Amino acid sequence: MRIGIPRGLLYYLYKPLWEKFFAELGLEVVVSKKTTKNTLKKGIEVTVDDICLPVKIYHGHVISLKDNVDVVFIPRLVSIKNKEFICPKLMGLPDVIRANIKDLPPIIEPTVDLTSSWLGFYRAVFEVGSYFTNKNTVILKAFYKATKNFKNYTQALEKGARPDEILEGCCNLLSNKAKFKILLLGHPYNLYDPFINLNMIKKIENYGARVITPENFTETIFKTHLSKLNKPLFWTLGNKLLAAAYQLKERRDIDGVILLVSFGCGPDSLIGELIERWIRKNTDIPFVLLTIDEHSGDAGLNTRIEAFMDMIERRKAT
Ligand code: SF4
Repeated sequence: MRIGIPRGLLYYLYKPLWEKFFAELGLEVVVSKKTTKNTLKKGIEVTVDDICLPVKIYHGHVISLKDNVDVVFIPRLVSIKNKEFICPKLMGLPDVIRANIKDLPPIIEPTVDLTSSWLGFYRAVFEVGSYFTNKNTVILKAFYKATKNFKNYTQALEKGARPDEILEGCCNLLSNKAKFKILLLGHPYNLYDPFINLNMIKKIENYGARVITPENFTETIFKTHLSKLNKPLFWTLGNKLLAAAYQLKERRDIDGVILLVSFGCGPDSLIGELIERWIRKNTDIPFVLLTIDEHSGDAGLNTRIEAFMDMIERRKAT
């Protein structure tokens, strides 16, 4: 049986977990190809105008997979962390996809809800596994191997590799040779899909910089910095960005911060504002906020990155 995994949204965080799990259950895993103009075009054709760019692109990935697989995996992500939530667009994703795309194969849509406890994750795993086998031991064994794979992935990220490097099979740790360190903040699907961000990481690293991202920080860092908030946000991904910014007060090795947000993203309109105000008030690190949508072009982005990197270069030289 062939199971399709769309290369979008939280694929960049959880691919090593689910891909291994399905492979251990004996399924053939088909990941949709890298995002192209055509992926976006297909997504735009079936979605409403004002939905965010990453969700449009996700639709395009599902369309590109649907005729080549027997089932497609679209989890309903409610919460991936205790007492926190994921953006509502991901909570309703299987329903939205079903409403927008015709002639879909069956959707495997476990509800991942860890709001009250980690048991929610085990429930999701057994829900998925039981589509393919009625043997709990087979599910458990597959799950064990998948979590081991996932742990290796997160450990590599914490040591400095980025998801884009690992998932593309090349790990190019420049940190020792880099002239600058740039913290690139944003949601994983915006940061690691080079089509969405117009190859931004490569553009920045062409200036001799190493780009680090929120995935490079440990859970301890997040906990420590979020504990300073009177009231954390509801959204896990937003909290992660805030914590990554808050640690800048204590770090002296970051030369600049770029916050990348999608036009039309509700959570980012608040989080972006909070991060920008906090960085400007509490640090003297150069900061720029870049907004992307399907009309963003290379020329505008190149100019802004060039200006930002020039400023950092001059600052470093003085
Ligand atoms: S957090 Fe923003 S970018 Fe992400 S799915 Fe929700 S609205 Fe879209």
